[in-house]
Amino acid sequence: MAEPAIDTNVIKQRLAALKGGRFKTWLQLCAHCGYCADSCFFYQAHDKDPKYMPAYKVIQTLGKLYKTNGEVSKEELEKMASIAWGDCTACRRCSMYCPFGIDIAVMIAATRAILCSQGLAPDALMDAVKNYWEFGNQMAVTEEDLSETLEWMAEETEEEMPGLTIPFEKEGADMMYTINAREAKYYPQDIAEAAMIFYAAGENYTFPKMGWDDTNLAMFAGEMKCAAHVVKLCYDNAERLGVNRIGVTE
Ligand code: SF4
Ligand code: SF4
Repeated sequence: MAEPAIDTNVIKQRLAALKGGRFKTWLQLCAHCGYCADSCFFYQAHDKDPKYMPAYKVIQTLGKLYKTNGEVSKEELEKMASIAWGDCTACRRCSMYCPFGIDIAVMIAATRAILCSQGLAPDALMDAVKNYWEFGNQMAVTEEDLSETLEWMAEETEEEMPGLTIPFEKEGADMMYTINAREAKYYPQDIAEAAMIFYAAGENYTFPKMGWDDTNLAMFAGEMKCAAHVVKLCYDNAERLGVNRIGVTE
């Protein structure tokens, strides 16, 4: 975790920006019936300890922030961080079971965004958000790195599939192919394997220079502006290249 710098004013602004009508309604509406609890694997994995119940997790985080209008201590905020990052994956499974349609995961995501604003988020996630803005992908892979990796992987398949190339920035292809940035950074052989399948299938596809990372860790960080930026990059580049489809592997 990064060293927190608590700024109550920023927390208040973030709370106000959430336009909390929906959240406040949900918090008031929750009957604490526990109907959603069994759907949460944290609750199940901890012998049904009530502190892992979805509704309880929200009361201890966003609920508390609303109740105090953001006037919380650093220790309280750290406790919230432990819940929002450590006890919930924002998988939304519990939301499927609530008879009122209360979306716990959305509220946890909102809490995470507030925590991010105070530096209370896992470092790797904060780095990913920074990299999405700067490089368009979470692993800081440059355009040149990607293009060289594609060339390299095409060379690696030469013996098995002579003539195979991995299209990069090809306009008018049928599909724009997107991957997890990890493939470009650590597992390029995955790219080669997919390329071999595409080659055998006669797929008309291309990698774009930007918008090819289909992970969106910004969403997990609750940084919705950045999350939207990642999605927009993908669509903008698909439009620019004039493809018909976007292939998403994640
Ligand atoms: S969103 Fe969180 S609380 Fe709900 S089921 Fe998933 S992990 Fe559990
Ligand atoms: S979120 Fe819905 S299902 Fe879960 S305790 Fe509250 S009212 Fe019940």
